[in-house]
Parts: sequence; structure tokens; C-alpha cells
Amino acid sequence: MNSFLASHHLLSALLSQTLQSFFALAVLVAVFAPLEHFFSVRRVGLFHKGWTVDLGWYFINGVITIVPLSFLAAFLAAGVHKLLPSGFTEASAALPLWARMCAAMAVGEFGYYWGHRWAHEIPLLWRFHAVHHSAAGVNFLVNTRAHPVDMIFTRLCMLAPLYAIGLVDTVGPNPSLIPALVLIVGSVWSFFIHANLRVRLGLFEEVLTSPAFHHWHHTYEDHKDHNYATMLPFMDRLFGTFYLPKTWPEAYGTATPMPDSLIGQLLEPLAPTLAPQPVAESQASYGQRLD
Ligand SMILES: [Zn+2]
Ligand SMILES: [Zn+2]
Repeated sequence: MNSFLASHHLLSALLSQTLQSFFALAVLVAVFAPLEHFFSVRRVGLFHKGWTVDLGWYFINGVITIVPLSFLAAFLAAGVHKLLPSGFTEASAALPLWARMCAAMAVGEFGYYWGHRWAHEIPLLWRFHAVHHSAAGVNFLVNTRAHPVDMIFTRLCMLAPLYAIGLVDTVGPNPSLIPALVLIVGSVWSFFIHANLRVRLGLFEEVLTSPAFHHWHHTYEDHKDHNYATMLPFMDRLFGTFYLPKTWPEAYGTATPMPDSLIGQLLEPLAPTLAPQPVAESQASYGQRLD
């Protein structure tokens, strides 16, 4: 009976998450489709090459990946709470919410920066992260093209220092408020910096990431080891990976072979010998040059 209730609960949670994802997608399309139409870096339209794969990743990550991520985040929070001395968390908990929120954004960004950088520098992690870089062009939906292993790893890297530094109440009435806000604000901004938008933020580009900043991260091999931050370019300046010329990239993608299909991209990092690898065809399709 208990297992019946548990599966019923999980099913209704998945259904509600699916409905929320549909609603969020409608909002994203309503906001970004017209903007990308009028202010694009280059005209590719809403139905760009690989858009069905991006859409598949959008629902996989929004509905399914979020389940193990929530469990692992709760597990991480409980583990860290046990390890930390109680006086340590009390000092942070005494700060007002806005101060904790600002500190959490900066500390979460630090964790994300290193998680993302490791995903590029450690070959095993790169196998998973290469899925994200396999997009031949960049637009708002490419934000969701991420292997679940890569997504869970980078999000946990983002959350771990928040728990470690005691900025998050791991117990209390709203234990998930700050981590949820950090993740939500980060992912909304991520859609924006992936957008195919020829906009520059002027002086604000010193303090906030922009589409140009992240487009350079998606360049075909030449600058993909730059601009790891999701919101605060300060992290890249601090660790020597900042790169932001006035121009836009000429080509996007990766030389790492990656199947075009969703199932191929899901399997490829797990078992490179099992998934089909249309190397010549894929590499020819990557790195599209701008007109
Ligand atoms: Zn990357
Ligand atoms: Zn990206």
C-alpha cells in the first residue's frame, strides 16, 4: 500500500512538473522568439537545426533530472549539516534574508564556476558536458541541451559551498528557499545568455554576464576554455579565463564527436563504443560559420 502511495505521489509530482515545464516553455517562447527574430546575431529562426533534440533535453531535464537532483541536494545538505559545528551556521542564519541571498548568489557562482571549469578540464566530465557544446548554433533553447550527469554535477557544485558555508538553513521552516532561488535566478539568466540576441550590456557587462559573454564560451574550440560563469563575470576575471572582445564569434560547436539524436547523446558519454558516431558527418555540421 505504501509503495502504491509513493508511486502515486511520484506520478502526480511528475505530471505537475510536466505541466509547469509546458507553461514555462510557452513563456520562454513568447519572450525570446520575437526578440531573436528582430535582434538575432544571425537569422536561424525558432526551428533551428537540432531544435527537436533541444526540446527533448528541455523536458528530460525539467521533469526527470530534477528528481535525482532534489534527492542528492537534500542528501548533500543533510551530510554537510551533520559535519558543520552548530555555531558556524548560526552566524550566517542571523544575517537578513537579502544579505544571505546576495552572499548565496556569489558563493553559488563560485561553486558553479569551478564545476563548469572541471567539466571542461577533466576528460571524463567533458564527455558529458560535450553534449551541451555540440549545438551547432546558440539560441535560448540550447540552454537546456545538457546531459543529466553534467547537469546534476554542476548544480551540486553550485549548491555544495552554500551548504558548506552555512548560508542555507538546512533545517527550519523553509530549508530550500535560498538554494531554490539561486537555482531559479541562475537558470532564468542562463536562457538569456544563450539567446541568439545581438545585444550588448555596455558597462553592465563588467558585473553581469551577457549573450556575447556566453556565445564566446560556445565558440568552435578557440575560446571554449573561457567565460565559465553563469551570472558574474568577476569569477572569470579572478581566475584568468575572461574573454570578451567587441565582436561576435564566427563559429559555434565542438570537435568532439557527438551523435545528432537525443538517445545517441544520452548514451554516448556513458558508453562511447555503443552509441553511433557519425564523426565525419557531425564534424562537418558543427562549427557553422556566420554569414
Ligand atoms: Zn561549457
Ligand atoms: Zn552554454
